[in-house]
Amino acid sequence: MVSKRIVLHFPSRLVDQPIVYKLVKVYDLNFNILKASVTPEEEGLMVLELSGEEKNYKDGLEYLKSSGVKIQPLSEDIVRNETKCTDCGVCVSMCPVQALIVDPSTRKVKFDNEKCIACELCVKICPSHAMELHF
Ligand code: SF4
Ligand code: SF4
Repeated sequence: MVSKRIVLHFPSRLVDQPIVYKLVKVYDLNFNILKASVTPEEEGLMVLELSGEEKNYKDGLEYLKSSGVKIQPLSEDIVRNETKCTDCGVCVSMCPVQALIVDPSTRKVKFDNEKCIACELCVKICPSHAMELHF
């Protein structure tokens, strides 16, 4: 029996497809969706806990990959390097789960690690390279 938390990135053409449903019907896996959202580029993001028999789990993941879904383990952690961040706010509109917000009283950008699903959008977009991926 395997149970893992993973992040799925769906390209826009797959956002409306019953991909996760197929994991249940064909691969006999159980899932629990922890978070789901669609980014401004219309890429779908889903954080889920997926569990089932080891072989089914592996086959299910292969099926996802062959369908064009990018899979990322949730063990990666995003950390903000406070000395590099200039509070420019570029990342705020990018974050699909509002883990980066502007504090209205201080005008500083706040990062809530608990909300973060490690999608890495801010890592790519931050002009100061303040958002870092730690393994
Ligand atoms: S984009 Fe980078 S520098 Fe700008 S607020 Fe976000 S983390 Fe800070
Ligand atoms: S990686 Fe960045 S953009 Fe993605 S959820 Fe975490 S804080 Fe938001």
